[in-house]
Amino acid sequence: MADFSLELNEDQVQIQKWVHDFAQNVVRPAAHEWDEREETPWPIIKEAATIGLYSFDFVANAFLDPTGLTLLLVNEEMSWGDAGIALAIFGSTLAVVGIYGNGTPEQHAEWIPQCFGTPDDVKLAAFGVSEPDAGSDVSSLKTRAVYDEAKDEWVLNGTKTWITNGGLANIHVIVASVTPALGARGQASFVVPEGTPGVSQGQKFKKMGIRASHTAEVVLDDCRVPGRCLLGGKERLEERLARAREGARTSSQAAMATFEMSRPSVGAQAVGIARAAYEHALDYARERRQFNRAIIENQAIAFKLADMKMRTDAARLLCWRAAWMAANRKKFEAGEGSQSKLFAGETAVWVTEQAIQILGGYGYIREHPVERWYRDAKIYTIFEGTSEIQRLVIARAISGIHID
Ligand SMILES: Cc1cc2nc3c(=O)[nH]c(=O)nc-3n(C[C@H](O)[C@H](O)[C@H](O)COP(=O)(O)OP(=O)(O)OC[C@H]3O[C@@H](n4cnc5c(N)ncnc54)[C@H](O)[C@@H]3O)c2cc1C
Repeated sequence: MADFSLELNEDQVQIQKWVHDFAQNVVRPAAHEWDEREETPWPIIKEAATIGLYSFDFVANAFLDPTGLTLLLVNEEMSWGDAGIALAIFGSTLAVVGIYGNGTPEQHAEWIPQCFGTPDDVKLAAFGVSEPDAGSDVSSLKTRAVYDEAKDEWVLNGTKTWITNGGLANIHVIVASVTPALGARGQASFVVPEGTPGVSQGQKFKKMGIRASHTAEVVLDDCRVPGRCLLGGKERLEERLARAREGARTSSQAAMATFEMSRPSVGAQAVGIARAAYEHALDYARERRQFNRAIIENQAIAFKLADMKMRTDAARLLCWRAAWMAANRKKFEAGEGSQSKLFAGETAVWVTEQAIQILGGYGYIREHPVERWYRDAKIYTIFEGTSEIQRLVIARAISGIHID
């Protein structure tokens, strides 16, 4: 019996099929409408909650899969249905990862279920790092967290931008600077519970793609949260700051810890878009006739499709590898998390563009979904670390040199 296998187990196959059915029957038919409306698709989020797909139990089980693959399967299928709606449903998981990666077991138990709510009372969560002047450079966050010892409260002030579910969420996880002089090592993550005064939505952005997903500013104006909302607790923060002051390297950077864990899943979303575009283009190329033959009978088209399939499969394998490594606590030695997201994101942009080319004029108009998939794909080279930043991570990891 061979030890190595890429075969999914029975549970994974079942989950994959279940999510695919939802993506096919519920998500995809609604994709065009919500892209045009540019609003959060509440009825679909509720439907996902009702069937148990958007739920604490389901996501917790997916997280606990020892192979690491279940989350990726879910993400790929959902984004195959529609990446905007998928992000509207599962955007909360970035905050969940933030709590899981930085919080104590007690904090996991208190806050993670609140990110989902119940089918009758669905909740959303948001993870806020980016700021108008601090996107790729997360070490320069201006949002401050100051401890008020007398009240055992943290006071947050600042503006976060481009936040998925920002202002709409019931739970916001906010990364803020406690000791600005220490850069990223002086930051910590805070839960801002539902109903906290001083947190509000700024402008909502109109976007190129993933338009069913809400993206907005989050304004924190003397926003006070109880001491227990500091993820990881005060003692751990003090120890970490002390080590940073001594100049010791700390592995725990609040924002980075979250992104490293979520990159293979984000990559899987890009794979879902690429696969959707490839399948659509393949069907179209078989059907569409010019010069008395199907266009796929031209090598120029058939070879494009061969490359689209190959690159999509390669992207999936990089995502699976990174997820498997993370789940099995194998250290990323060559930025494997970044490799997966970088390759998958750029593949999705490339594959969707090829799909438009294969559909010709029909690819450029909204009658077919490929132009939407192209618009949706582009975000995957930007958020959760741009392609350039992923290349930096990989280059630094393989060279051991701090490349700028
Ligand atoms: C739809 C959407 C949803 C988002 N959701 C969230 C969210 O939920 N939470 C959150 O915190 N953030 C979110 N973001 C923010 C996203 O992560 C940032 O946009 C991203 O990190 C890039 O930051 P920036 O836009 O400020 O670009 P900049 O950092 O200003 O970069 C501009 C360009 O310069 C390049 N560049 C910058 N530094 C370097 C360097 N050292 N070397 C080479 N090139 C460099 C970049 O690669 C890019 O091409 C979201 C963004 C969008 C658009």
